[in-house]
Amino acid sequence: MDHRSKELFERAQQLIPGGVNSPVRACLGVDSDPLFVAHAKGSHLTTVDGETFVDYVQSWGPMLLGHAHPVVASAIHSAVDRGTSYGAPCEDEVILAEAVIDALPAVDMVRMVNSGTEATMSALRLARGVTGRNKVVKFVGCYHGHADAFLASAGSGVATLSIPGTPGVPEATVRDTLLAPYNDLTAVAELFTLHGKDIAAIIVEPVAGNMGLVLPVDGFLQGLRDLCTEHGALLIFDEVITGFRVNYGGAQKRFGITPDLTTLGKIIGGGLPVGAYGGRADLMRRIAPCGEVYQAGTLSGNPLAMAAGIATLTELKKSDYDALEARVAALAAELQTILAAKGVPVRVNTIASMFTVFFTDQPVTDFASAKTANAALYTSYYKQMRDKGIYLAPSPFEAAMVSFAHTDADLAALLDAARAITLSA
Ligand code: PMP
Repeated sequence: MDHRSKELFERAQQLIPGGVNSPVRACLGVDSDPLFVAHAKGSHLTTVDGETFVDYVQSWGPMLLGHAHPVVASAIHSAVDRGTSYGAPCEDEVILAEAVIDALPAVDMVRMVNSGTEATMSALRLARGVTGRNKVVKFVGCYHGHADAFLASAGSGVATLSIPGTPGVPEATVRDTLLAPYNDLTAVAELFTLHGKDIAAIIVEPVAGNMGLVLPVDGFLQGLRDLCTEHGALLIFDEVITGFRVNYGGAQKRFGITPDLTTLGKIIGGGLPVGAYGGRADLMRRIAPCGEVYQAGTLSGNPLAMAAGIATLTELKKSDYDALEARVAALAAELQTILAAKGVPVRVNTIASMFTVFFTDQPVTDFASAKTANAALYTSYYKQMRDKGIYLAPSPFEAAMVSFAHTDADLAALLDAARAITLSA
C-alpha cells in the first residue's frame, strides 16, 4: 500500500538528512516510516499512495480552520497575483498587526518574523537588551524552537529523540539557560534567590504542548508573573501553540495573566511560514529601527503569509471556540474510558482543541511525569490507529490537534479506531 511513500522516503534519505526537513516527521519515535502527503482538505489528508487519513496533527497546530480552508485559500490565491515579496511595507502587514493586537491583551505592538524559532530568539534578545541581563529561565520539556539558548532539556523532537544537549551549542550559551520543572514555583523562586539580578526573563509555554499536553496548575502562571515583577525580569509567554488556539485571545486572555512579551507562530500564518513577537509598547520600541536591539528579515511580513493570516484570524474570530472545546473534552473523556477498558494505564490531558494520551497511571504535570508514560504502548497505539486511518503525532511528547473542520463523524472515527485496537500492558 505504502509503495510510493516508501520510494520517496528512500530517495529523500539520500538527499535530506533523515529524509525530512524537521526531525519529528521522521516518525523515529514510533518506529514507523513517514507518509508522504499529496494533498489535504479540512480534517483529512491524502498520501501519495492514495490513502486518506483523519488528520489529528494539523501541521502541528497552524491549521485550526482545517486544511485548504476556502477563505484562506482564496486570500492566498489573490495575493499571489499581486506579487509574492516586496521587501517594502504593505497594507496587509498593518491589518494583521491590528488583528493580533486587538486579540491579545498583552500585545501593544508586534513584529512579524518567519517562524516560531525566530520569534522566541528575538524576544529573548529584546529581553536581554532591555534588562542588561543574560540569564533566562526555561522549563524542562518546554520547546521554544531551535535557537541555541533554548536547546537545553527541550521538548518536542529533542525529547522524542532523547537528545540531552545539542553539539554545536556553545556551553557558555546554555550556561545562561536556567532550568526548572514545569509547574514548580518553588524551583523558580530558588533560581531567583540564587541569580535574581542576572535573570533577564522567564520563558514559558502557558500551556505546555511539547512534552505532550501539560496544563499549568492553579497559581503557576500568576506566580511566575509575581516573581518577574519582584525581580525586574520579563515574563515571556510563548504562545506559538496556544495563541488563537486556547481561545481567540490566547492563554494570556484565558488565564488573565499579562506577560511582558508574547511570541506567536503557527495559526497567525494560516499555514504559511510566519512567527511574531509582541508586547508592551515601551519594550517593543527598543527594537530597530526605533531602538538599538537589532532584528530583521528579508521575507518578514511576506504578503502571502499576511493574507493567509488575516483570512485565518477573520474566520477564527467568528468561530465558536467553546463548542469545539466541549466536543474535544467529550472526545478525550471517551478515549480515556475506551483505552482504560483495555487494562492499560492511561491519562488523557486536554484543553481547548488539544489532547494527549499518556500511557501512565499518574497525573502528568511536568516532564518527569510525562516520561513515566510507556513509550512502547504509545508506539503500538500509534501504529494501529494509523492502520485504521487515524493520523496522530508520531511521538508521545506532542499534542493531538483538532480543527474546526473536524466533524462529529471524524471524532467518532477516532473513537471507533481506538475501540478496535488491542493494547496490553
Ligand atoms: N514555541 C513553541 C511553543 C512551539 O511549539 C514551537 C514549534 N513547535 C516553536 C516555538 C518553534 O516554532 P517553529 O517550528 O515555527 O520555529
